[in-house]
Amino acid sequence: MSLELKIFPAGYIQTNAFLVSNLDTKESVLIDAPHFVWDEIDPVLSENGCTLKALFLTHGHYDHIGDAARIQKMGVPVYGHKDDKIFYETPEVMRSYSYPPDMTLEPVMIDHWVDQGDVLPMLWEPVEIRHVPGHCPGNILFYFKNLKAAFVGDALFAGSIGRTDLPRGDFPTLEKSIKGEIYTLDHDTVVYPGHGPQTTVGQERATNPFVQA
Ligand SMILES: [Zn+2]
Repeated sequence: MSLELKIFPAGYIQTNAFLVSNLDTKESVLIDAPHFVWDEIDPVLSENGCTLKALFLTHGHYDHIGDAARIQKMGVPVYGHKDDKIFYETPEVMRSYSYPPDMTLEPVMIDHWVDQGDVLPMLWEPVEIRHVPGHCPGNILFYFKNLKAAFVGDALFAGSIGRTDLPRGDFPTLEKSIKGEIYTLDHDTVVYPGHGPQTTVGQERATNPFVQA
């Protein structure tokens, strides 16, 4: 199976978007949609001859969903967690925390609400959902077992963790999520955060200064 992962840091504050493609079956999936990322993704899809089967959103903060409505209009179904409904449908509520303050904030109506333990069947391999709130109520991770990869949004970063001082953030909740739903993945699972470099479950379990295993 010929899988390709491309990372596109995009938007106003370099939010990671991840394009995972199966070059045999010609299927792709995009994880998160910062502003303007479609301009970079579209040529790659064409070049590979791949169809974008789904847009997976890790959470509803503006820097992860700026291009979501635009991509949805191309006929791509969008997946997210209902506890971030307010951020998806009224991103304006985060305007005072967003930079630059005059950016366009377009709502996205989620097509498929997903939750803890769901296994999504639409790709070449099943994708497991784990609910990891704390940074915000609706942060989820997408776990690709064969790829040995977890796309975690802003729950956990290399050597750091997501902010918990934003509206509806909560540190004890985040700590419980990381210990219960991320540190329990295989130690060699690669963790792809919403900002900055990748890491592994083993590395963070051993050295993360904010949440100890
Ligand atoms: Zn966030």
